[in-house]
Amino acid sequence: MLHRVSLLFIVCLLLMQGNTFAQGAPSSAKAHKKVLLLMGTRFELVAVAESEQLANKAIDAGINEIKRIEALISEWQPTSQTSAINRAAGSMPVSVDPELYDLIFRSIKISKLTGGAFDISFAAAYNIWKFDGSMTKMPSPEEVAASVKHIGYEHIILDPKNHSVFLEDPEMRIGFGAIGKGYAANRARDVMRKMGIKAGIVNAAGDMITWGKQPDGQPWYVGIADPAEKDKVFSWLTASETAIVTSGDYEKYAEIDGKRYGHIIDPRTGYPATGLKSVTIICPDAELADALATATFVLGPEEGMYLINQLKGVECLMITDKNEMLTSDNLHLHFYQNKKSPSSTSKTAKAPKQP
Ligand code: ADP
Ligand code: MG
Repeated sequence: MLHRVSLLFIVCLLLMQGNTFAQGAPSSAKAHKKVLLLMGTRFELVAVAESEQLANKAIDAGINEIKRIEALISEWQPTSQTSAINRAAGSMPVSVDPELYDLIFRSIKISKLTGGAFDISFAAAYNIWKFDGSMTKMPSPEEVAASVKHIGYEHIILDPKNHSVFLEDPEMRIGFGAIGKGYAANRARDVMRKMGIKAGIVNAAGDMITWGKQPDGQPWYVGIADPAEKDKVFSWLTASETAIVTSGDYEKYAEIDGKRYGHIIDPRTGYPATGLKSVTIICPDAELADALATATFVLGPEEGMYLINQLKGVECLMITDKNEMLTSDNLHLHFYQNKKSPSSTSKTAKAPKQP
């Protein structure tokens, strides 16, 4: 436990530098940006390029990639291959695109790594929990226990020969709510990079991946703020070739008898996970960061931090339900001096302006 500060949750914000802080080689490249709703989330795509035309073309290609992935993997769209797998639960295997097959394969690998805390078959629990404000009373313990019986990544049967997926239990359902945005962000970045965009950002409402540097040669800066005061950034980190992804209970939740139940299910119990308010994972891969943020949220402060400290190149920042901030062993956060937080301002990078 490195830092204890009193705050509610965190949000990650991009801090775009003004030229006043320029350190690197100046260039005529500019950061071009588009914001739109994709996968039910506010996506922001940024491309650094000298040519506005190229930047816009690349951003549009990134957007199309995200739309393509959504149509393939969404459990909400009846025409998606995921829906076909869910409809055939308990009856037959469904052959799917190698891309979806591979995503499921990697999801199962993360389930094994996290002892089942991350599990795409969590979805059976969503029959009894609703996190859209419509729920007013707790499900009965019997209902919860019954839902858990249909959760279990071990019962997702993959056949590499036919690229088929079979859910053994007729009541089983899979969903990619905890990994899909990260996967889509990785892929949009790849598409934009292939088109010659040497630096940029794909940001899905604070879950983001960055590559390259800002037009003035500085790294990207990501500010950490308390969502209660979103424009008060109290600390920041530098991010190049880095994904920063947060899971929390502050957006989708049910409030029952004054208690908040967040949308992340503990597959071991069928109840919403407790103990943490938010988990931010920092690592080079947005898909892994997304899945690990959810898994760590389920595992809780001790077990979750233990797991992250075992993984090379993966760092973590947690806010517990007691408003303590915990960081993994090698996370280097920079704090603004004017806050009462412990100070560890970097010697190598100049602090970006607080927005
Ligand atoms: P956010 O969508 O806010 O970024 P997450 O990445 O943590 O948050 O994803 C939460 C979503 O993941 C839930 O809305 C649900 O669709 C799905 N989910 C819930 N619990 C689990 C779990 N234990 N394992 C995998 N997916 C989960
Ligand atoms: Mg996630």
